[in-house]
Amino acid sequence: MIEAKPSPNMLTFASIADDLVAFRRYLDDEGVDWLMFGKGELAYRETVLGGCVSVEPCKSTPLDWMHLDCLESNCRNLVVAPSKLQPVIKAQQVMVGKLHAVDETSVEYRIEAQVLQRLLDAREKLIKPEAA
Ligand code: SF4
Repeated sequence: MIEAKPSPNMLTFASIADDLVAFRRYLDDEGVDWLMFGKGELAYRETVLGGCVSVEPCKSTPLDWMHLDCLESNCRNLVVAPSKLQPVIKAQQVMVGKLHAVDETSVEYRIEAQVLQRLLDAREKLIKPEAA
């Protein structure tokens, strides 16, 4: 029996493909006119959680490196890429687990556990089951 183990390159291509699917789904769901990109009215840039199509200055806080504001504000410029959100959630779960093991009453634990809960709530709200 031949066992195929995906190479790192294949995983990279799969991740890029997932991101493109998320972007295409966003364009379809929002009914975006593709010509707006050519006119400079929309542009795409990657974020930690997927992407953003806004060309306007954003008011979300620059200290919010996880872009939780993007997730919780129902911003119509947000492209949620499950392939990006899931690893962020996994990393946050690991961090929360470690902090819990050290001291479950610490401020650090409580802050990071709250961030994790916000990520989980956003995932529940934003990602359709077939895309997760
Ligand atoms: S809040 Fe909206 S406009 Fe601002 S970075 Fe997030 S997705 Fe883009």
